[in-house]
Amino acid sequence: MTEPLFDRLCLIGAGLIGGSIARRNREGHALAREVVVTAHSQATRDRVRELGFADRVEDDIAAAVTGADCVILCVPVGVYAEVMARIAPHLKPGAILTDVGSTKGSVIRDLTPLLPKGVHLVPAHPMAGTEYSGPDSGFPTLFEGRYVIVTPTEGTDPAAVEKVRELWRRCGSMIETMDPVTHDKVVAIVSHLPHLIAFTICGTADDLSEETRESVLKFAASGFRDFTRIAGSDVNMWRDVFLNNREAVLEMLARFTEDAQAFGRAIRWGEAGFIEDRIKRGRKIRHSLIERKQA
Ligand code: NAP
Repeated sequence: MTEPLFDRLCLIGAGLIGGSIARRNREGHALAREVVVTAHSQATRDRVRELGFADRVEDDIAAAVTGADCVILCVPVGVYAEVMARIAPHLKPGAILTDVGSTKGSVIRDLTPLLPKGVHLVPAHPMAGTEYSGPDSGFPTLFEGRYVIVTPTEGTDPAAVEKVRELWRRCGSMIETMDPVTHDKVVAIVSHLPHLIAFTICGTADDLSEETRESVLKFAASGFRDFTRIAGSDVNMWRDVFLNNREAVLEMLARFTEDAQAFGRAIRWGEAGFIEDRIKRGRKIRHSLIERKQA
């Protein structure tokens, strides 16, 4: 039998991501001997107790992190600074502090100033998710075959980084290392911009007159439906992502807007070659995703 990686693992936040990590341990993937979970609301903590995917549920965040060898922040990135202020004095010397947040520059900005001496910060981001949230939404195979990007800061203990990489290996993931600036740019184009477009297109459809909106819903299978899946995502999480990856998202949005306008211009002037080229490039990207088993 594989030795558990940690004696005590603490998960702050028990939604899609935190709940999936805890369930992964329950399924026998030896992440930790004991998984302690806490969440913001009494309702979520009670639900976690009912669902039984944690060994212990703590109402008090300080008590939850006390004695933990590894603490994973699984909360929206906008509350990191507040959560860090509450846990920092209680982190065990030698403990690993890691996270799953969708932005990395802001996470390092918010966690580093309060990091106690001797605690190892290893930020990470599992590139796996669904449009569901909350304690019922997690499942143990969520991370299988998905990438996790680890963004260690300069001078981080390599042994701590390796432990975080091993944690994600045991979750079934493939691991990449990246600097936080590159990470934030990559996710801006592969994740944040598509969400921005999905939220916007749903808003645009919703603004149309009553009669047209009815037809949009009726004939949604034509393509609109795929956007609504993405647009069904959690409000708090996505508000925080946009506010905390501002520069990269705005840069990608500016580039996208230019390209979309060029596409529009080609339609206006009947430039069939330009339009074909865009469609071919789209198809090529789709096919390479299928080949890499990421579709
Ligand atoms: P989620 O399902 O909405 O869960 C968030 C959890 O955080 C809830 O248990 C919530 O507790 C807790 N929480 C919120 N504020 C808190 C606070 N101040 N103190 C303690 N707990 C707090 O969200 P998620 O999808 O798991 O996302 C968690 C993190 O993963 C985010 O940073 C997100 O960017 C990242 N991420 C998400 C995805 C995705 O597709 N969903 C993918 C990769 C990474 P209550 O329920 O009591 O409010």
